[in-house]
Amino acid sequence: MDKFLLFTPGPVNVAENLRYAICREDICHREPDFDDLLASIEQKILSLFQIRNRRAYRAVVITGSGTAANEALLSSVVGDGEILVLSNGEFGERLNKISRIHNSKTHLIEVPWGTPFDLPQIEAYLTAHKIDVVAMVHHETCSGMLNPLGPIGAMVKASGATFVVDGVSSVGAELVDMEGCNIAFCSSSSSKAIGSFPGLSFVIGSKNHFEKLKTHPAKTTYLNLATFYEFLEKHSQTPNTPAVPLFFALEQALTDLLREGVNKRFARIMARAELLRIGMRRLNLEFLIDEADMCSMLTTVRVPPSVSVRDIRERLRQKSIIIYEGKGCFAGRVFQVGNIGELSDHDIRYFLASLKDVLLTLQAEAADLVAAVRPKRATVVRLPIPLHALAKVVS
Ligand SMILES: *Cc1c(COP(=O)(O)O)cnc(C)c1O
Repeated sequence: MDKFLLFTPGPVNVAENLRYAICREDICHREPDFDDLLASIEQKILSLFQIRNRRAYRAVVITGSGTAANEALLSSVVGDGEILVLSNGEFGERLNKISRIHNSKTHLIEVPWGTPFDLPQIEAYLTAHKIDVVAMVHHETCSGMLNPLGPIGAMVKASGATFVVDGVSSVGAELVDMEGCNIAFCSSSSSKAIGSFPGLSFVIGSKNHFEKLKTHPAKTTYLNLATFYEFLEKHSQTPNTPAVPLFFALEQALTDLLREGVNKRFARIMARAELLRIGMRRLNLEFLIDEADMCSMLTTVRVPPSVSVRDIRERLRQKSIIIYEGKGCFAGRVFQVGNIGELSDHDIRYFLASLKDVLLTLQAEAADLVAAVRPKRATVVRLPIPLHALAKVVS
């Protein structure tokens, strides 16, 4: 099978050494070998978040994709209190949907997809209502918009509520400053900007907040964060059988990331995005949102006139390139180009050349189609005008 270049916001092309890591020896997850593996991953997650007071934070790793971590969060942190979900896109809506399953007192502030939040509106809401937890997506992947953690974290802190963040598609590409932005918990996954295989997710949080979870009644068995924390503390393990091979791969991905240096990794992803964005602007493509609001891992591009997103996607696929189509209200109107995982500068140039080729071909085909239709129309006009119509014109 051909190698596909995944220009998607996850899954990603994984590094070659991750393929070896996942095939490492068999170990038992109730033996010190796994305790060490989990401890190593946890320490590396704290480093990735550049936690300064390392003793005040912990991270639990969950077998399950990013949604599992989000569901663990939303089912565990509210108790029977009031939670406010902020949504400006598909993934904000999902947080709201998950929260409503577990928490009857879910509030929602919603703005249209791809629109920045109205900060005074949030502040006024927090003043007018007694809210215990505020949940927000950091990088709203449906539009590529990075939501501001600093200002919203400060407002949440001032209101006395707990701030929880879905960092599934930003962690590994952008800094989530837990301490600086007053974030109690942040969820993320193995298969986006961290660059490993899909199937694992994690929640990092302050010990204080993890401790408080014990007082809430459990709403799920498998995804109860308090249980994960208890097992971590008591046994340095997970409550149930973990997907150990994926843990090996995640450990390798984090090792590689830290070896490169967190800031260098962020800068490299940003530089790649800039290369892509410059190249796409040269093709006269327009972006959905302002570049200043974009996350460094993804560009959301408006579909140019006279071509369809399905055709762009299909033609790129024939060149072994995979992109994303917009969803929901963006369906048919945008396509998305990710720049995470193992993509070289050569791959970026190949992508831009291929995209140019595909767009020129599709636009030429569209022009041919118009040309093919036009003479027919002209023929119709030249047909003798029926007598009854002529009579109308004359009278
Ligand atoms: C991808 C994504 C998720 C869901 O992750 P899965 O791995 O598909 O479960 C949640 N939130 C955001 C912001 C995402 O981009």
